[in-house]
Amino acid sequence: MANTEAARLSSEFLRHVYELPQGKSIDKCIQCGTCSASCPTSSAMEYGPREIIAALRAGVLEKVLKSNTVWLCASCYSCSVRCPAKIPFTDVMYELKRLGVKHNLYPPDTTNAVMARAFTEVVDKHGRNAETTLLQKYYLRTNMFKMFGQMNLVRKLITRGRLEFLPHTIKGIEGFRKMVAAIEKNGET
Ligand code: SF4
Ligand code: SF4
Repeated sequence: MANTEAARLSSEFLRHVYELPQGKSIDKCIQCGTCSASCPTSSAMEYGPREIIAALRAGVLEKVLKSNTVWLCASCYSCSVRCPAKIPFTDVMYELKRLGVKHNLYPPDTTNAVMARAFTEVVDKHGRNAETTLLQKYYLRTNMFKMFGQMNLVRKLITRGRLEFLPHTIKGIEGFRKMVAAIEKNGET
């Protein structure tokens, strides 16, 4: 990634992090490693939580996004609770996921980003999740043959009222869409 693109990515990321409650504290990271030591999944991450901020400062955030790191975050909040600089690290992880999905920067072998994007599309359209539609989108984009393998289970779940075949759109969907558009516009400025 060219230096200017890397700088743009870091700047977009920081802009969103700064908007989080206590987000500006990210500048106060002292690289103590408490977050990585507290993280139950850091041993499996290509970059631990501490290294994410080091990568940001080094201008190589793209490497983190293309690694498995953010997709292994279990949102347990241990890092946020224990960080001496009070950095809301779990929310920082959500910002990284959002950024990676938006710019198609995620590991080639992960399907989590595909699921995240499909989920956002379903909620944008219906104002809530619709499991059957979500699964269709997910499998069509990953491995549609797996979808056929799930048919029997899906049929049973629908028969027993555990899954709805057709998506339901919430009342007031127009208001919901306006709200989302306003939030997105605010995030772009
Ligand atoms: S615990 Fe907080 S201050 Fe320490 S390395 Fe992690 S983010 Fe930085
Ligand atoms: S919230 Fe995520 S990054 Fe933080 S300690 Fe838990 S799993 Fe690790």
